[in-house]
Amino acid sequence: MKPVEIVLVYQSLLGIYGDQGNAKILVNRLKWRGIDAKLTSVEPGDALPADAALYLLGGGEDAAQVSAVNALREDGSLFNAVDDGAVVFAVCAGYQITGNSFTIGENDDVVEGLGLLDVDTRRGAKRAVGELLARWTRPDGSDYLLTGFENHGGYTRLGSAARPLAQVEIGIGNNGDGTEGAVQDRVIGTYPHGPVLARNPALADHLLELALDRHLDPLPDAEVEGLRAERLAFVRRTGR
Ligand code: GLN
Repeated sequence: MKPVEIVLVYQSLLGIYGDQGNAKILVNRLKWRGIDAKLTSVEPGDALPADAALYLLGGGEDAAQVSAVNALREDGSLFNAVDDGAVVFAVCAGYQITGNSFTIGENDDVVEGLGLLDVDTRRGAKRAVGELLARWTRPDGSDYLLTGFENHGGYTRLGSAARPLAQVEIGIGNNGDGTEGAVQDRVIGTYPHGPVLARNPALADHLLELALDRHLDPLPDAEVEGLRAERLAFVRRTGR
C-alpha cells in the first residue's frame, strides 16, 4: 500500500512557531500503528504534491503569510487536493491564509486568502497572547479539551459555510466571541501552537481518521495524558 503522505507547507515562511512538530506527531502516530507514512516538506518554488493525504500549514509573520498565500495560489495544487478530499490542518497564520481575507501591517491592508475556509480576519482590539483552553466536541459526541498557546493580532470571524472547531474556556480564540478555529468539509483551522497536536493527540488522531477515512485504534497515551492533566490544572489555576 502507498504510504500516507503528509505535506509540510513552506517551513521557511510558516515555520517560526514550532508548528512543524505537528507533522512529526502525525507521522509517528501512523508509524506506531504500523501504517507507512511519508513526510514531504515543500518550499515556495517547489511543486506542491496534489495527491497527498494531509497538508499542514503553520504560523508565521505578516509578510511571510502574504508570500505564502501568493505562492500557494500560484502553485494551485492545494485547491485540487482539497477538491479531491485531502485534509488541510492550518494553524494561526496558516489558518488566516486559508480564509477569504486577512489584514496585515499598520495600514490594515486587506489581502485575499485561499478561500478554503469561509472566514475573514481583521486586526483585533488587542493581541491575543497566552494559554488557550477550548472545548472540542469530537465526532462521537464526547468532549476533549484542547490546549495550546495563542499569539495573534488578527481576529477571525466565521461565515455561514464554516463552523467553529471548539468553544473557548480560557483565552481569546477566534475573536473573543467564545469560538475557536473553523471547520469546513475537510479543512480545519485553529489558533493554538504548542505544537497543538503534541499537546492534543486526540486531535491528531481525528485528522488521521479523516485522512484515512477509517477508525484508528487508540494508542497507549497515558504519559501524554498525565502531562495534559498537569497543563490543564495549571492553565485553570493561572487563567489569563
Ligand atoms: N501574523 C498573524 C497575526 O498576528 C499570525 C501570527 C501567528 O501565526 N502566530 O495575526
